[in-house]
Amino acid sequence: MATAVCESIKIVLVEPTHPGNIGAAARALKTMGLSHLCLVAPKNYPSAEATARASGADDVLHAAEVVSVYADALQDCTLVVGTSARRRSLAWPELDPAECAERLVEAAASSPVALVFGREHSGLTNRELDHCQYLVRIPANPAYSSLNLGAAVQVLAYELHKAALETGGGAAAALTDRDRPATAAEMAGLMGHLQDVATQVGFLHPAHPRLLMRRLRRLVHRSQPDRTEINILRGFLKAVQRATDGRGGD
Ligand code: SAH
Repeated sequence: MATAVCESIKIVLVEPTHPGNIGAAARALKTMGLSHLCLVAPKNYPSAEATARASGADDVLHAAEVVSVYADALQDCTLVVGTSARRRSLAWPELDPAECAERLVEAAASSPVALVFGREHSGLTNRELDHCQYLVRIPANPAYSSLNLGAAVQVLAYELHKAALETGGGAAAALTDRDRPATAAEMAGLMGHLQDVATQVGFLHPAHPRLLMRRLRRLVHRSQPDRTEINILRGFLKAVQRATDGRGGD
């Protein structure tokens, strides 16, 4: 896999419990030409068991980024895909593994992207999935669909490797800074601003906020705005704030 694309694809493990799975994930990445592992609040790391299971992929393991706050892992990413063994009630747009890999490899040619894995016992929470534009599910036995975390990383890393080979590693798109897709941090800024204004004008009732914001977030994620579009929307929201109470917002 082309080095730039490989480094731009971040594999994020949220609160992994078993160090063996962290080592297995590092090994899975290295076998497929990936190298960027990110651990969010791992329960037991560093650990000798992780190093043993990495078995020759200790370079990937030792270079792993460790963060304590989930959102910090995604800040600079323009595409975030979550993984899940089960279908969710409020459906996120779902991709199959090959489609997911194609989109991530394509986007990684111009900016950082993330593929997010959940805890061994409980997966990802809906709040964590709120940061994801898409969900990917590895089709499996409907009666027993939950893979081991390290195995799930291996399957999707293989798909990324295949997609990168098929596209020649992803040709870097010549995007200007204004055209580049918004990052997770810029999207979060827009969502916070939308929530403030919706509350201020009485459209969002703080006692029942969650479903509305989740639906709006999905709409914004689906439209994949670029930086200029985010700036236009935020300019509009500031104007609404000025018109309603003379405040400029920020
Ligand atoms: N009981 C949990 C299973 C967690 S398995 C749940 O129902 O969500 C641990 C992690 O491995 C998951 O969070 C996901 O990241 C990954 N995983 C396991 N099976 C998967 C599958 N069939 N498709 C996609 N990801 C899967």
